[in-house]
Amino acid sequence: MGVFEKLVLGVLPLVPKPIMRPVAQRYVAGEELEDALGKLRTLAGAGYSGIIDILGEDVEGEAQAREVLAEYRRAADGVHATGLEAYVSVKPTHFGLRTSEELALGLYRELAAYCQGLGLFLRVEMEDHSTTEATLRIFEALRADHQNTGLVLQSRLLRTPQDIAALAPGPLSVRMVKGIYLEPADIAHTAADDIRDAFLACARQLFERGAYVSLATHDDLLAERLLALIAELGLGPDRYEFQVLLGVQEPLWAKWREGGHPVRVYVPFGPEWLPYSLRRLRKNPEILRHVVRATLRLG
Ligand code: FAD
Repeated sequence: MGVFEKLVLGVLPLVPKPIMRPVAQRYVAGEELEDALGKLRTLAGAGYSGIIDILGEDVEGEAQAREVLAEYRRAADGVHATGLEAYVSVKPTHFGLRTSEELALGLYRELAAYCQGLGLFLRVEMEDHSTTEATLRIFEALRADHQNTGLVLQSRLLRTPQDIAALAPGPLSVRMVKGIYLEPADIAHTAADDIRDAFLACARQLFERGAYVSLATHDDLLAERLLALIAELGLGPDRYEFQVLLGVQEPLWAKWREGGHPVRVYVPFGPEWLPYSLRRLRKNPEILRHVVRATLRLG
């Protein structure tokens, strides 16, 4: 990243919301559930399944966490009503993990039971390393009673191969990611090549234990190696899918879809779109330039 981009990144949080909104539209369906359901319909028309995520994290206290649960129930109802192939995905701290692990587990249990009634799947997401242990405990407790649940694991973390080995036997669904949180070098790979190699090794480990693996990446090089692994293991599309973020690297989605590989798109929505969009923009200097131009025009 150049000096210019670094400078812009520094001031991005100060850019007025009206300027950020059109830029964010690329990554976020909108503020309302209806926006997300509309996006799911469009994606389904193009051959992609979906994931609904309500933007937000780190709620404080039980009351707020329960409001998030209510929102997710509404989202699950909405997805169910569309009849589309989609499910919901929740961050542990959005369900109050930082308040209490018991609270978060309780809310995941309620949502998993609710989704089960609707025939929907629920994914437990993974946040920074301070939450990994608790998230694994929550997932294992949840999975014991609800088969319609899955986990996210991060190849960046050195511990992940041991975590995979320690998961209880039985059906397992994992979304494999590199990990969005920059972690300290004593617990995580920091070089891009190492994170990529670890992703491939974790995917192999998961496939070999019979898991269904969602390969969540926009890294074409990594994807080529994953496809070679899938071919080597002789796996059919009932054992894996690619997962991508709304607005990121669309040409890749089409390439995979046309190659006969299932692709699922993560569709975030909600009033808390700004922090999420800022994180996405940090990865994309080209879009940063559009933001700067728009800001200057407004000035
Ligand atoms: P990268 O090497 O980061 O990117 C590959 C290519 O895609 C590069 O060319 C890069 O420039 C481009 N690219 C990546 N992001 C953008 C962008 N925003 N805009 C434009 N180009 C971009 N992480 C977690 O820690 N926990 C989770 O629960 C989690 N869930 C996820 C769910 C899904 C469906 C996906 C796709 C990702 C999720 N992630 C999660 C994020 C993940 O960990 C990575 O940070 C993210 O996918 C970027 O890594 P990459 O594998 O795409 O490779």
